[in-house]
Amino acid sequence: MLINDLPMKLQGLHMIIHDNGDLERVIVDDEKEYELPPTNLKEVIIDLSEMRHDGYIILLQTLEQMSKDIKGESKEDYAKAERFLRLVDDACNAIEENDFVLAYLTKSLVEGTLFFYASEDLPTQIDCVIQNLNHILFISLELDYILTQMSKGENIDFENKCIHTRFCEVNQSFYRTNDGVQIGYRVQSVNEYYILLIHKFIELNPMVSRCQACNRFFIPKTKKKTLYCDRVLKTGKTCKEAAPAIKHKLESMKDEVICVFDKEKNKMYKRLERTTDFNSNTEKSLNYSDYYAWLDKATEARNNYIQGNVTKEQALKIIKVD
Ligand SMILES: [Zn+2]
Repeated sequence: MLINDLPMKLQGLHMIIHDNGDLERVIVDDEKEYELPPTNLKEVIIDLSEMRHDGYIILLQTLEQMSKDIKGESKEDYAKAERFLRLVDDACNAIEENDFVLAYLTKSLVEGTLFFYASEDLPTQIDCVIQNLNHILFISLELDYILTQMSKGENIDFENKCIHTRFCEVNQSFYRTNDGVQIGYRVQSVNEYYILLIHKFIELNPMVSRCQACNRFFIPKTKKKTLYCDRVLKTGKTCKEAAPAIKHKLESMKDEVICVFDKEKNKMYKRLERTTDFNSNTEKSLNYSDYYAWLDKATEARNNYIQGNVTKEQALKIIKVD
């Protein structure tokens, strides 16, 4: 691993991104170094596109509730803020088992935010922590849009549709050896990590497909147009194996259920975008958990319909919103 040659001391996740998307990552924390298993940019992005963030959403709702109680800078307020931060810490410890990187970078995001806004009053600091945690959810929603555009071969409207993913600041290091220069990155928050990787992914310009059976994104192994992924469905068959049975329904993409699903998804996303953008303080008519609860149910109904498990009417009843 090249990354082991870099003289690293500062805290954070250090990373080398190779031209083919291979990632080398090391976390430096309290002068200890944790080498992470090698992976590829494409894998990380597809994993992120599938992430449900359920734990995060519940955590954020609780934190928002708690923050309403922190109104000033009294002793009680500080005690409440401490409880608030302890909850974040506990949540990160729970996430750690499944996703070490996400847990580490979330903790580090919170620490960084408190440090950056240290001169602000306590309620403002707490509010900034919540906003930055919210940011992560927006990045994954925008990633869904980015991958959709890539899979259709259409342009990505960064200026209007990716306001949370457009920009980040990341530390870069340049290490010259006799073989040339090695560029390293150091990220200290989940936001930086995801945004950098999304930008690098777009630069890599891989072929992105959306599986017509399970509706999830994947990177085909060949340049040939591939309609189905290799994931295993509930039936035990892979999407590719199940394809002949569902093909007739997909022959015409004008199938009502698929069209309604896409239309309703757009509608729900716009509602979420309108009501939870942290620049506006409007009443929330649709929050993340409602959005994801709908999305999970609707996707399941759509997939069950194309696999022949439910009728068109049954599927539409679940998918359609008012
Ligand atoms: Zn699939």
